[in-house]
Amino acid sequence: MEKVDTLIIGAGVVGLAIAAKLSHRRSVIVIDKESRVGEHASSRNSEVIHAGVYYPHGSLKHQLCVRGKALLYTHCEQLNIPFQQLGKFIVATNEEEAQNLEQIKTRAHANSVTDIDFASPKTIKQQLSYLKIHSALFSPSTGILDSHQFILSLIAEIERNGGIVATQSEFIRAERLGNDFIVTMRCDNEQFEMGCSQLINCAGLNAPDVLNKIADDSDKTTAYYCRGRYYRYQGKHPFQQLIYPLPNTHGLGVHATLDLAGQLKFGPDTEYIEKIDYQFDDSQKAHFVAAIKRYWPTLDESRLTPDYTGIRPKLSKNQQNDFEIQFETTHGISGFVNLMAIESPGLTASLAIAEYIEQRL
Ligand SMILES: Cc1cc2nc3c(=O)[nH]c(=O)nc-3n(C[C@H](O)[C@H](O)[C@H](O)COP(=O)(O)OP(=O)(O)OC[C@H]3O[C@@H](n4cnc5c(N)ncnc54)[C@H](O)[C@@H]3O)c2cc1C
Repeated sequence: MEKVDTLIIGAGVVGLAIAAKLSHRRSVIVIDKESRVGEHASSRNSEVIHAGVYYPHGSLKHQLCVRGKALLYTHCEQLNIPFQQLGKFIVATNEEEAQNLEQIKTRAHANSVTDIDFASPKTIKQQLSYLKIHSALFSPSTGILDSHQFILSLIAEIERNGGIVATQSEFIRAERLGNDFIVTMRCDNEQFEMGCSQLINCAGLNAPDVLNKIADDSDKTTAYYCRGRYYRYQGKHPFQQLIYPLPNTHGLGVHATLDLAGQLKFGPDTEYIEKIDYQFDDSQKAHFVAAIKRYWPTLDESRLTPDYTGIRPKLSKNQQNDFEIQFETTHGISGFVNLMAIESPGLTASLAIAEYIEQRL
């Protein structure tokens, strides 16, 4: 039986970032059940490099987003991965929302995102005259990147260091043998075993299922799926920065983002679903249009066309969870790292998550 030091389940941006980091010192394999890497959350997101303004101070989301942002900008610069530090406005449409902006600014400063500030009336008049807003915060360190190129750069780093990224390889189970794990996977309809001393669960939406197959805990972890739709805006538009409304309980609100070609898209909204299903339900477009019209009343809705959906991995329906990154002290299994609920800002945080795990292993 073949053996590696570290086997990582899931070749999304998080599994790949961890593999790239560890591959400098250890033999590493990343397995993914799909025929291509990054097919789930890692290619179904807003491609925004978040500043780290919203997250509770001291949370993993706060720490790993702020650190990940710095690492990601440097990584993009060094490896010529396309990105733009466009900045984003968080907009309030009335007096009550404006009070929330104050809280966001206070939290951002506590999170050491000290460059965020209220946009002056002159800036609002010059840059945001197409919006109907009361006031706005501007976050200059927010940006966008080409996440596909980022993923390719991680694979190149893994392979340069002798690591392997194996697609069409589905994790089935893992058993303990001495200090090692024997991992069973399915490749091309055949079962195959591999030994490893470290096992890392980065299976995104399936991470709770993978955990349930590894831990013999009778309390099974339940996965919740929160789907969001994106609509593409066809034609010319006045947007030059990212525009975000105030965040809500489940997400960051239906925001306006730009891709590197300047194409405008809106999303994602939030809808809890029972199983992983990316189908686009266009029947609720009116709610989506209403959310945008709150800050851009002159939106021509006939220009909005369905684009894609993404699904957030959640561990409960009711609150904004923090990232769950569990080591032996939590689950009692030595050599096993369990990552769950790596929703936004997981793309921004991915390099910092990798650094965090390397430091603790
Ligand atoms: C709608 C949406 C918008 C977002 N916007 C942003 C943003 O603008 N900025 C930001 O920083 N973050 C954003 N995020 C978050 C970011 O996309 C995710 O945090 C990140 O992509 C998570 O990466 P991952 O590797 O953990 O998961 P994934 O990319 O989902 O990868 C998990 C992988 O595990 C594989 N897998 C599952 N089960 C098995 C198995 N049994 N065996 C083998 N492989 C398996 C899957 O095939 C998949 O490839 C957004 C997320 C969503 C859903």
